[in-house]
Amino acid sequence: MRFFVKTLILSLVLCASTAWAEPLRVVASFSIMGDMVKNVGGEDVVVTTLVGPDGDAHVYEPTPSDAKAVSNAQLLVVNGLHFEGWMDRLVQSAGYRGEIVVVSQGVTPRQMQEEHEDAAHGEQHHDPHHHGTIDPHAWQDLANGVIYVDNLIAALVKVDPDHAEAYRRRGAAYRAQLQDTDRWVRAQIATVPAVQRRVITSHDAFGYFSAAYGVEFLAPVGWNTENEPSAKDVARLIRQIKQEKTRALFVENMSDPRLIKRIAREAGGVVGGTLYSDALAPAGQTGDSYIGMFRHNVPALTAAMAQN
Ligand SMILES: [Zn+2]
Repeated sequence: MRFFVKTLILSLVLCASTAWAEPLRVVASFSIMGDMVKNVGGEDVVVTTLVGPDGDAHVYEPTPSDAKAVSNAQLLVVNGLHFEGWMDRLVQSAGYRGEIVVVSQGVTPRQMQEEHEDAAHGEQHHDPHHHGTIDPHAWQDLANGVIYVDNLIAALVKVDPDHAEAYRRRGAAYRAQLQDTDRWVRAQIATVPAVQRRVITSHDAFGYFSAAYGVEFLAPVGWNTENEPSAKDVARLIRQIKQEKTRALFVENMSDPRLIKRIAREAGGVVGGTLYSDALAPAGQTGDSYIGMFRHNVPALTAAMAQN
């Protein structure tokens, strides 16, 4: 009998400690956020990513299983800067009242300047209050990535203070990797003469990259993939490519490649490959992590720009 009681107590203690050690349930809005959470959270978190590899978060439509994941979450990680326009409704329909961390908090947002110029010429057809006046792609500058990681560490520590030390330790190591990658990107770009640093992509996702690393990007579509380019915009871009003899044209992994292929054909350029802009590659491929995205994009960019 005494043995039985002891066994009972022991199994109760084991049950309790198993429950205690269960990893934190984190939901990340899209693949780049998901990768960051895995790097900082390690074994202390289990991550559900809503918009997966090669997915377009601009135009995403959440599914019932997304709502279920959000309602079960203990922390929700979003980019913010109006990137995930569908998130507020999802949070509401899931009845989620837990912690939400907007990891872009503290970055200096880029404003949409060209659209304002168009507006001055009476060509503005976008609602200025609609998302699209702020460039959401802040992760394309690794210095912003470091801010994202700091926000993420703080949020994980707040929600799960028992693992604070582990989050801070992994966060610091990951932060250092991002800073190393930043230095590497600068060194790579520096190998291309400044006048040759011009690239055409399908949508305008590289404004932060451009400002941070000194590469000029042109795109037929604005910041939001929802917008269709006008025939006039496309014609103007083709003229510019011919004039400047830009050879470096790229498709993006989450965008329809047809427009860029058409522009390349009409402008006499070649498509230099794929850039990862708003989503990571499927697991196992280069570009399947936030750092891997730069490791893929930057050599592709420098090789193509060398042809300009
Ligand atoms: Zn985008």
